[in-house]
Amino acid sequence: MTSLKHTRYRQFFPSLNGTNQPFAYLDSAASTQVPEVVLKDIEQYYRQGHANVHRASHSFARHATNAFELARKTLAEFIGAKAQNVIWTSGTTQAANLLADGLAHLVEEGDEIWVSELEHHSNLVPWQQLALKRNAVLKAIPVLGNGDIDLAYFRQQLSEKCKIVAVAHVSNSIGATQPIPELSRLAHQYGAKIVVDGAQAVAHLDVDVNRLACDYYLFSGHKLYGPTGIGVLYGTEQALELLEPSVFGGEMISKVSFETSTWNSLPYRLEAGTPNIAGAIGLASAIKFLSQFPLKERLSHERQLLAYALQQLKQHPKVELIGEPMMRVGIIAFNLRGVHPQDAATLFDQYNVALRCGHHCAMPLSHRLSPEGSIRLSLGLYNNQQDIDQAIEAIDKIMELFD
Ligand code: PLP
Repeated sequence: MTSLKHTRYRQFFPSLNGTNQPFAYLDSAASTQVPEVVLKDIEQYYRQGHANVHRASHSFARHATNAFELARKTLAEFIGAKAQNVIWTSGTTQAANLLADGLAHLVEEGDEIWVSELEHHSNLVPWQQLALKRNAVLKAIPVLGNGDIDLAYFRQQLSEKCKIVAVAHVSNSIGATQPIPELSRLAHQYGAKIVVDGAQAVAHLDVDVNRLACDYYLFSGHKLYGPTGIGVLYGTEQALELLEPSVFGGEMISKVSFETSTWNSLPYRLEAGTPNIAGAIGLASAIKFLSQFPLKERLSHERQLLAYALQQLKQHPKVELIGEPMMRVGIIAFNLRGVHPQDAATLFDQYNVALRCGHHCAMPLSHRLSPEGSIRLSLGLYNNQQDIDQAIEAIDKIMELFD
C-alpha cells in the first residue's frame, strides 16, 4: 500500500535505491527517474536483434517494426488517440518546431499568434520566430499575480486575426494547470488552431485529447519515466493533414525523382530519417509500467504529497512561495528570504536534495513573478514525505548559514 511515508512506487526505480541514499530527488519536472522494467525492455530490444524499421524484410527488421508500431499504439491509447494520429519526435521541443514550420503557411502579415506568459521557451521561441518570419504579431495571455492566466483578457482580445493559440497544459515553473477545453473552444470559435504543450501534464493528469478538444498535443518521454530523445506530436487527422513537412529524407517520401518528390501518408510523412526505435519501445514500456497502478491511486498520492509540501513550505518563516494557482500539479516555485536561488540550489545539493533553480526556461514568467529566478521543487511518483522533510531540514540548515 502507498502512504505519504511509504510509497510503493519507489522500489521500482534503481537510481533511488542505490548506495547514495537518502537522496531526495525533487527535480522530476526536469526529468524523471527510469524504472527497472524500462531499462530491461530497452536492453532486450537490442539483444533480440535491432534493425531499421519499415525497410528490410528480414526477421530483425520485422521484430523492430512490430515493436515500434506497437509502441505507437500504446502511446496513442494513453492519450485517447488512434495510432495514425501519433507522430514520433525527439521530444516536445522538436514537436513545437515541426508545428511552427508546418503551420507557417497559415500565417500571413498582420495575423496573430497567441501564447501565454507562462510558456516554456520551447513553446514560445518557435512561435516568436514564425511571427517574425511572417510579419505576424506574437501576443501573450498575461499571467495574474497568483500564476493563473488572465482568461477574461484573452476572451476580450481574441479575434479572427488569430491563427494559432499555443499554450502549456501545465506550467513547468509553478505547476499551474490551464483550462484547456475552454481555450480550445475560444480558439476554434475564431477558426484558430490550438497547440497544447503537455510536457508537464502527462505524468500528473489524466490526459484525454478528445476531452481537451485541442488540435495538437505534444510531450516528451523523459518526463514520463521513459528515456530521453523520444516524444510525441499528436494531432487530429485534419490538423496533421494541414502540416507541411519541414524535415526531408528517407521514410517521409512516396516517390522521388530529380525534378520532384511526393510525400508518404501520415504519420510517416512527418517522420523523416531513422527514428529512435529503442526510445519508442522504452517509452511504451514506461506507459505499461504506469498502467499497472490505478490512475486514481497515482494521482491521489501526488495530490497528498503536494498538499503536505505546500503546507510545510507555507508555514516556514523563511520561505516565499511564487504563485498560488487555483489548479496545480506537484510543481512548486519558491525563494528563501535573503538568499539568491543559485546559492540555495548549490547548498541543497550538499544536503542530498536535488532541486532546480533559475528561470526554468520560462524567462517572461520569471520576470513577471520572480525576477531573480526561483527554486523549484517538483514531485514524481517515487517521492514520499521523507523527501519533503529532507528538503525542509535542508532549508533550516541553509538559513542557519545566512542568519
Ligand atoms: N515544455 C515544457 C512545459 C517543459 O517543461 C519542457 C521541458 O522542461 C519542454 C517543453 C521541453 O521539453 P524537451 O526538452 O523534452 O523537448
